[in-house]
Amino acid sequence: MAKRSDKHTSGPLGSGALPAKEEETLRRLYYAGAQLPSPMGGFLEVLHVQTEEDGSGVVIFECLSSSLRFRLPLKAATRTERKAVRESMDAGMEPECPRHGEGRRLQRVGRNFICSACGVRYARA
Ligand SMILES: [Zn+2]
Repeated sequence: MAKRSDKHTSGPLGSGALPAKEEETLRRLYYAGAQLPSPMGGFLEVLHVQTEEDGSGVVIFECLSSSLRFRLPLKAATRTERKAVRESMDAGMEPECPRHGEGRRLQRVGRNFICSACGVRYARA
């Protein structure tokens, strides 16, 4: 019996890292709200979005054709992004995700304001 070699590396959620070049493309498409092509062919579906300790986000995707999972790390909010969110809150407006754009409101989770699509923390109450 030949043992099937599995090139897929496992992360905490059984998810593998994407090649750096693909990560960049996927990030751009993801922020634009576009469909995401899978490195295995077909498309990726968002399974889970989480916020890390440092305020950065991680999106876990599942490939619809291979069922492999991939994790896409999203950088923590920049000073400019935090400032923009803070200013809109100070102006009495509902804060929106600076990356996902208008219509994607930040959600308050405890003391944090987080985008439910990218998992990034943009402000604290
Ligand atoms: Zn977002």
